[in-house]
Amino acid sequence: MSLADPAGSGFSVTVEPSGRHFGVNADETILAAGIRQGIGLPYGCKDGACGSCKCRKLSGTVTMEAHQSKALSAEEELAGFILTCRSHPTSDVVLESRQVTEAGAFPIRKMPVRVSALTKQSHDVMLLRLQLPAGDPLQFHAGQYVEFILQGGARRSYSMANAPHTLSEPGTGIELHIRHMPGGKFTDHVFGAMKEKEILRIEGPYGSFFLREDSDKPIVLLASGTGFAPIKALIEHMRFKAIDRPAVLYWGGRRPEDLYMDGWMRERLAEMPNLRYVPVVSNAVPEDNWTGRTGFVHRAVLEDIPDLSGHQVYACGAPVVVDSARHDYVAEAGLPEEEFFADAFTTEADKAQP
Ligand SMILES: Cc1cc2nc3c(=O)[nH]c(=O)nc-3n(C[C@H](O)[C@H](O)[C@H](O)COP(=O)(O)OP(=O)(O)OC[C@H]3O[C@@H](n4cnc5c(N)ncnc54)[C@H](O)[C@@H]3O)c2cc1C
Repeated sequence: MSLADPAGSGFSVTVEPSGRHFGVNADETILAAGIRQGIGLPYGCKDGACGSCKCRKLSGTVTMEAHQSKALSAEEELAGFILTCRSHPTSDVVLESRQVTEAGAFPIRKMPVRVSALTKQSHDVMLLRLQLPAGDPLQFHAGQYVEFILQGGARRSYSMANAPHTLSEPGTGIELHIRHMPGGKFTDHVFGAMKEKEILRIEGPYGSFFLREDSDKPIVLLASGTGFAPIKALIEHMRFKAIDRPAVLYWGGRRPEDLYMDGWMRERLAEMPNLRYVPVVSNAVPEDNWTGRTGFVHRAVLEDIPDLSGHQVYACGAPVVVDSARHDYVAEAGLPEEEFFADAFTTEADKAQP
């Protein structure tokens, strides 16, 4: 029996091994239907650019809209993998996705927010604090993101950099870390005309990047640039919940100033004995006087932990870092693919690639 809404001519999707089952309407992608019905499918950009929603199709047929080959290669497609954000079922479908959890999905809502603070953290990173409507708290998992709905309907995604429990502290609101991309529609505004008290519209929470608390595996946190934002939220959440699994953050930037909350991180180390921190800089110049680790941040993890088979990895930031980490950790260090959780910060430029 189809579970799709009676109005649609849709099919049903079953996700193994969880057995979660949901209907897809005729005009929906599998992912859109899953999000609508609170199924915890993994995903990131929702636009065929990042590959986070890739999963194996065990049976059934789908049609797939255009997508980036780095998100899903022709070989993977031949091997039966699909991107749920681009797929429309043409029969009932069974998928394999080991990351699907029972974790409650919070309702996705649109709401107005007011910019309550704009604080520059470095030459190209702005901390934006947003006041939520009074008496109407946003529920989310630490690590999830919200979308701004811009004039004309364009959307831009930003990870929340604080954990949900902090919203009960007066005046906190949600915190975002926004890197300027010159020529970018939204970030040119943030670094240009945006003023405190401006009203914006957001929708959320979105995303499958949050701590899997049913595991006791040691954790590798990997951040490049503002990829630190959702990882900061995870660390705040771990501290609040007294989660003491061993965890290590590798945070990479081109120059030391890109590690714009280095001081905040060092303060957390004093409070969380099982947390370690390895800052990594790829393009230090002599006047930086950098004496710490250098090179690609994702490779620093492999230099220190060549066997990741017993770990969970949470990676965020530049797509090239996230993609390289996903590939190298699975291929070289034995990380089970389903233990890699990521949000790649894809942009319009990434989506415009063939
Ligand atoms: C899940 C998720 C979470 C994210 N979280 C964060 C976060 O916490 N912090 C953060 O800083 N970013 C984050 N991002 C990235 C963010 O959503 C934006 O993509 C980014 O800030 C750029 O937005 P923009 O409107 O300024 O630039 P855009 O208008 O998207 O342009 C980006 C760049 O591409 C160029 N460009 C635009 N269109 C094209 C085109 N058609 N062809 C070629 N080049 C083009 C522009 O000149 C600019 O340099 C996240 C992305 C995702 C998917």
